Amino acid sequence: MLDTARRYREGKTSPTQEVEALIERIGKDTLNAFVTLDRQGALTSAARAGIAIGQGNDDPLMGIPIAVKDNICTQGIRTTCSSDILKRFIPTYDAHVIERLKARGAVILGKTNLDEFAMGSTTTTSAFGPTRNPWDETRTPGGSSGGSAAAVAAGLCTAALGSDTGGSVRQPASFCGITGLKPTYGTVSRYGLVAFASSLDQIGPMGRTARDVAMVYDAVKGHDRRDSTSVPGPYPATELSGLDLRGVRIGVPGVFFTQGLAHDVEREVRQGIERFRDLGAAIVEVDLAHIRYGIAVYYLIAPAEASSNLARYDGVRYGERFGDEKDLFAMYSETRARGFGSEVKRRIMLGTYALSAGYYDAYYRKASQVRTLIVEDFRKAFTRCDIIAGPTVPITAFGLAEKVDDPLSLYLLDIYTIPANLAGLPAISIPCGFGDDGMPVGLQLMAPAFQDDVILRAGIAFQDSTHFHEVRP
Ligand code: GLN
Repeated sequence: MLDTARRYREGKTSPTQEVEALIERIGKDTLNAFVTLDRQGALTSAARAGIAIGQGNDDPLMGIPIAVKDNICTQGIRTTCSSDILKRFIPTYDAHVIERLKARGAVILGKTNLDEFAMGSTTTTSAFGPTRNPWDETRTPGGSSGGSAAAVAAGLCTAALGSDTGGSVRQPASFCGITGLKPTYGTVSRYGLVAFASSLDQIGPMGRTARDVAMVYDAVKGHDRRDSTSVPGPYPATELSGLDLRGVRIGVPGVFFTQGLAHDVEREVRQGIERFRDLGAAIVEVDLAHIRYGIAVYYLIAPAEASSNLARYDGVRYGERFGDEKDLFAMYSETRARGFGSEVKRRIMLGTYALSAGYYDAYYRKASQVRTLIVEDFRKAFTRCDIIAGPTVPITAFGLAEKVDDPLSLYLLDIYTIPANLAGLPAISIPCGFGDDGMPVGLQLMAPAFQDDVILRAGIAFQDSTHFHEVRP
C-alpha cells in the first residue's frame, strides 16, 4: 500500500489508472471474488483522489482501492450477504467503517463474496456461487470472507475488509496466503455490519502485509456512539515498525498441537515460531484448559444469537417477500423458506432450540458459563506470556466439493480461531510457509485485549525477516 501511495506521489501511476486496471482484471476474473463491482463509484472517487494528491494530500490511503465484504452496508450499492433474501437490498447509509475509509479518500471498488450471512468456512454457501482459491482454482479460498481474501491474494485490490465471528477473516487469510486481523472486540464499530452473532462479530482488515493491515485498521477503528459495544478509546495510531522481540514471551499452548493438526501445517507453524525465537523472543508453554470446549460453546452461542438477529428477515421490512400476502403467517414462512439457504436454516434451528424454554439453562446458559472459563484461561496465560502463537487452521485449503455434506467436519476446523472471538481478543493470521500440497499456511498470534498493535508489529517484524508474504499465486 505504501508502495502504491509512493508511486502516486512520484507520478508513476494515478488512482484512476490503478482503478481502471483493476476493473479490467476483475472483469476477466475467474475466481468469482466479487458479488458487485461499483465501476462508476470507484472511478469517481479515484478521480477525486487524483486531484487531492495533485494538490499535495499526503494521506497514504488516498486513492487506495479497497474491496468490502458484502455484509457491510454501502450506501446506494446493494448489500446482499450473498443471500437470496437480500439480493436486491440497497442500503440507504454507509457502515461506520465505510464512512471512515471514504473520509480518508480510499476507493471502494465493490463488494466481495461470502458464505451466506457469513455462516461458513468455504464461501461455497453463497447464493452467487462459490469463490475459488487463486493458488488452486479447484480449492476453496476459505470463508466466510473468501471473496475478500481471494481478491487480495490475486491482486484484484490493495486491501479488503472482512468480518470475523469465529475465524472468518483469519481462516481465509491463512488459506490464501495473506494477512488478516480480527481486532479486539469493540474497537471497530459494528454499525452497518449485518449482524450474525453480535457478541462475537468484528470487522477486520485483510491485506498482503501486516503493515497494510495495520494501516486499514487504524483508518476504521475508533469510538462510534451508534454501536453500544464500541469502546471510547483512546485509539493511538499503530507504529508501522517491527516489534523488538528481544525479551518478548511467546506462549505456545500444547492443546493447539494435538490430534487433528496436519503434520505439514504443524511443521511450518513450528518453524514460524522458531523464527520468533531467532528474533529474540522467549518461547514458553502455556495452558488453555477449556479451549477444548470452544467449538461446542461457539456453536451454541453463535446460532443462538443468529436466530435472534435473523428474525428481522420476515418479508416485511427488509429484502425479498414471497408467498400470499393476505395470509401473514404463510407469507413469513414462505419468505424464509425460499429466501434462506440450508446452512442458514440449520443455524436458525439450532439457535432457536438452544434458546427455547426448558433448554436455555442446559445449553445457552451453560455455554455462556464455559465462555467465562475460556476468558479466564486467557487471563491466566497472559500473566506468563505476552503473545500466544499457534496455527490458524489445522489444514490447508481443500477441494471446493469436499466436506460440503459434512457440516461437523467444517465446524471442527474453527478450533483455533474461535477462542479469540469468545474472549474478545485481537488475533492475526500471517503467512508462514507452504504445505506439502503447495498451499499457504498461516500462523496465528493473539494478545490481550487492546494490544492489537503488539501482534500487528510482531507480524511486521516477522515479515521484515521472511518472504512468505511476497510469494504470489
Ligand atoms: N466458520 C465459522 C462459522 O461457520 C466462522 C464464521 C465467521 O467468522 N463469520 O460460523
